[in-house]
Amino acid sequence: MSTDEIPLLELRNVSKTFRSAAGETIHAVRAVSLAVRRGETVALVGESGSGKSTLGRIALGLIRPDAGEVLLDGRSFASLSSRAFREARQAMQPVFQDATASLNPRRTVRELMAQALRRHGGSVDVHAAAILDSVGLRPGSQYLDRLPHELSGGQRQRLAIARALAVEPALIVADEPLSGADVSIRGQVLNLLLDLQEARSIAYVMITHDISIARAFADRAAVMLRGEIVESGTVDEVLVEPKHEYTRRLLAAVPELDRRAW
Ligand code: ADP
Ligand code: MG
Repeated sequence: MSTDEIPLLELRNVSKTFRSAAGETIHAVRAVSLAVRRGETVALVGESGSGKSTLGRIALGLIRPDAGEVLLDGRSFASLSSRAFREARQAMQPVFQDATASLNPRRTVRELMAQALRRHGGSVDVHAAAILDSVGLRPGSQYLDRLPHELSGGQRQRLAIARALAVEPALIVADEPLSGADVSIRGQVLNLLLDLQEARSIAYVMITHDISIARAFADRAAVMLRGEIVESGTVDEVLVEPKHEYTRRLLAAVPELDRRAW
């Protein structure tokens, strides 16, 4: 097999159960397999509680599955030394819905960027300003002394993306990154992510309950229901001509939108 054929990230039969407060077993993810290739976007869609975030956290190495394997570049997480595992985790960066929660309110933008850039040599200010520029916080140098609360919600989400980018990841797992943002910000952030993907060939796993975002943004889609992937394929196959009744119901619930609308 050539290296081109090895997926960037592969989940093989991963499962994860939780115990509820009442002591019941919750099968959050059941024997899910999913591959993400370099530079592509895979949308993970499904209603709330279907296991999307849990699967995303397993992919990021933040949750260890009870069963199954996660492979980055064909190497199983379980086979890695703790140092190699830390490096693998660096290659995959999260962007969560609530940027505010992931940004220490007492740290300036400079300090927040310095954390993400700590593995780089050279001037943090120069590097950080360039990345801030690239996410549309321009000129980046003028943001360095600000605190998170001095930014708007949209600017904070851009800062969260800038921090993820500073690590130079091969994959970004974005978990509902646009929920709660107003429509104009959603369009801007989506377009930013698309531009960055083109420039740096980053792969995305885009977790969303919003089918219109998945359609506008993804190459492939996987539909989750009660912890399982019930349907997957190209966006056209899955989100335009779905075979599964559940996917049809999800689609029926969303207004028509296309890429141009962003
Ligand atoms: P989604 O992101 O699709 O809304 P989640 O992965 O967050 O779904 O949750 C899947 C199921 O697992 C839900 O029933 C949720 O309540 C449960 N769950 C998720 N995380 C935990 C946890 N840390 N402890 C207990 N139950 C959890
Ligand atoms: Mg979720």
